[in-house]
Amino acid sequence: MFFERAVREEGASSVPAMRIAVIGAGPSGLATTIALMRRVHRPFEAWLIDAEDAPGAFGDGPAGKALTTEPARDLSVLPDRPDDFAEWLKGSLLAGGAVAALRGPQDLHVPRAVFRDYVMARFGEALSLRRDVRIRTFRGAVRHIGVAGTGLRVAFRDGESAEFDHVVVATGFGIAEREAASWRGAAAAAERLSQQADPSPLTLVGNGPRLAAILLDLRARGFAGEINVAAASGRLPQPHGRGHEGMAFGEPPATRSLKDAFRYIRNECSAAEARDGGQWQTVVDAASARLSVVWRNLPQAERNHYRRHLLRLHRHFSVRIARDVHRRLGAEFETGRTRFVPSCDPRSADENTIDCREMPSARALAGLIGRDAAALTVDDCGRLLSHSEALCGLSVVGAIASSLRPGPFTFAETVRQTYRAVLDIAPQGLARVSHR
Ligand SMILES: Cc1cc2nc3c(=O)[nH]c(=O)nc-3n(C[C@H](O)[C@H](O)[C@H](O)COP(=O)(O)OP(=O)(O)OC[C@H]3O[C@@H](n4cnc5c(N)ncnc54)[C@H](O)[C@@H]3O)c2cc1C
Repeated sequence: MFFERAVREEGASSVPAMRIAVIGAGPSGLATTIALMRRVHRPFEAWLIDAEDAPGAFGDGPAGKALTTEPARDLSVLPDRPDDFAEWLKGSLLAGGAVAALRGPQDLHVPRAVFRDYVMARFGEALSLRRDVRIRTFRGAVRHIGVAGTGLRVAFRDGESAEFDHVVVATGFGIAEREAASWRGAAAAAERLSQQADPSPLTLVGNGPRLAAILLDLRARGFAGEINVAAASGRLPQPHGRGHEGMAFGEPPATRSLKDAFRYIRNECSAAEARDGGQWQTVVDAASARLSVVWRNLPQAERNHYRRHLLRLHRHFSVRIARDVHRRLGAEFETGRTRFVPSCDPRSADENTIDCREMPSARALAGLIGRDAAALTVDDCGRLLSHSEALCGLSVVGAIASSLRPGPFTFAETVRQTYRAVLDIAPQGLARVSHR
């Protein structure tokens, strides 16, 4: 096997004892690896595995020029220093007045390439302090994760496999809905259509930040053709509120029913909008943070109801874009060159229909571990449970975890998850290593 061979070639004496696989090299996989280096105080070897993307690829090319959906204040990769990214911006990009910020760096939505550079800088710093740690990056599509002795075996599509003491799944929006494919597909379709005398419209399917970024990028590059937006909700991505001012909430429902919780949120949003200066965004954020408490006591059937019927709606109102990007999108629709059309399945459409959807799929995760999606859930520590029983050695973090339990869909929440998961890994992994 490739992995075992690679490790042996470097000499048995230098091989660290605990082996960890992180599947997915997106923001969540990177945050997990940083958390491992900062919190696991014993030697380990971590594999950062991705089907296609190199670590930090979300900051490459035109995708890297798109602005982060969250302001800098919410993008720290260090949970003990919430202002870390804003401070880093102040000390690098904004140093010496090279770029003048109208507001404080905390409020800035920066190009994703800048955020990527920050994450990679913290990654490098954490690694430089750990001579006893080895990080490997590996390109391979994971097909299956199964039990092997006291550890887990990760099997790849090409037939290779490798064993680990712990596996962290950070597969986000999966392989099928990869972001890089949407950018590539949109650019190719725009070029094709621009060369035609009587072109049909270019269709973008989705209604989230990816759709917003790709649509504005096509226009910025001079694509003048018609664009159809096939969005299930027929709505634009929502903008952030004006600020984080404190708000008074009504009495939360005593019941632990999901239906009552959502009715309460709806009523509070209406009340907030009716009040002078009140914002529904603040209510949704506060309610999302409290939803995990309701979730703990919900029967599995109600959890599945949330995933099937409410997750999309919850994401639509929770994952928000910069106010300026929202304004530019609105202006684009007003030109009449871009319009909403009914939703369609991009997989059964033509080559000028581009999939820009961003829905983490519990079914894809269930497929990886050969379990029933309806029986899966994730606890507060990122442990994966099937029929309420923990699947040993498996953690799930980031966007894919949000398909299994509600909560705030924010980077700060992902970072919190990774640290909880990592603290849980250390004792479990140690126990397994001592049994080998
Ligand atoms: C314009 C824009 C701005 C954004 N701004 C923000 C922001 O401010 N904050 C924020 O949190 N998010 C933001 N996002 C979303 C963000 O880029 C991430 O995609 C999202 O946070 C999920 O991250 P993730 O690491 O969980 O998953 P992903 O980014 O989806 O990464 C998952 C990785 O796993 C790999 N993978 C999947 N399945 C397998 C498999 N079976 N085997 C091997 N590899 C696999 C994929 O190739 C992929 O690289 C933004 C998105 C856009 C388009």
